Amino acid sequence: MNADRILISGAGPVGYTMALNLARLNIPFTLFEAGDTIFEDPRAGTIHPPTLEMFEESGVTATMLEQGLIVRRYQYRDRKAGIVADFDLGALKDDTRHPYRVMLEQHRLSHILRDKLKAYSNYEILNSHRVKSIVQDADGVTATVETPDGDKDFRGTWMIGCDGGRSQVRKSMNVAFDGFTWPERFLVLSTKYDFGQHGYAITKYIADPDEWCALVKVPGPDG
Ligand SMILES: Cc1cc2nc3c(=O)[nH]c(=O)nc-3n(C[C@H](O)[C@H](O)[C@H](O)COP(=O)(O)OP(=O)(O)OC[C@H]3O[C@@H](n4cnc5c(N)ncnc54)[C@H](O)[C@@H]3O)c2cc1C
Repeated sequence: MNADRILISGAGPVGYTMALNLARLNIPFTLFEAGDTIFEDPRAGTIHPPTLEMFEESGVTATMLEQGLIVRRYQYRDRKAGIVADFDLGALKDDTRHPYRVMLEQHRLSHILRDKLKAYSNYEILNSHRVKSIVQDADGVTATVETPDGDKDFRGTWMIGCDGGRSQVRKSMNVAFDGFTWPERFLVLSTKYDFGQHGYAITKYIADPDEWCALVKVPGPDG
């Protein structure tokens, strides 16, 4: 079915970015997402100048700037000694149209991208559809997908793997994921406490042999 279309596995920020790019080129696609909705757990929160430039043409940047916190300065601090370096991204004003970072939760970017897709047709987004395996032949690909109604095969011209670090698409291609796992466990905490009253910039990285962390401010559920 739908053999003329591109298949995308994974509707994270990368999958939605790919989807919007294809929609803007009027290339039909089907996007499979294992989850039933956009995950809203705290993950990436910083958007850098090259990303803002990349999303300009699609109008995504303008919406990110409306919703996010624009940050011109960020700090490196020693946990005990205080500020080590205080960077002013305004110094990049001759190099980029966006000499700042934008603090915006990753899931908000996914929502923005999904909203922008509403201006287009000729695509489908299937939540609760987990890609289990992909087989390629001379004419295209067949993906076996776990759906709420059981396993189904979907046919497409290409499969684009946007399904994260444990990508099933990568595994189906027998591509290794070299590297190592850090021994530390990372804890993510959210608080409404205002660290700004202690002289902290909106974004800072705090060094310490034992108690290091990154401390960032994001819009949060209340904006
Ligand atoms: C705490 C934390 C902080 C971070 N901070 C930053 C930061 O400040 N800046 C930064 O650049 N990055 C940061 N990252 C990394 C960033 O979150 C990832 O790089 C980003 O999520 C990658 O996006 P993605 O779309 O490739 O993958 P993901 O966000 O992992 O999305 C993959 C999607 O694919 C779906 N999926 C998986 N398998 C299948 C399948 N078989 N079939 C169908 N769907 C599938 C998943 O459900 C998911 O929705 C952080 C990560 C964490 C955990």
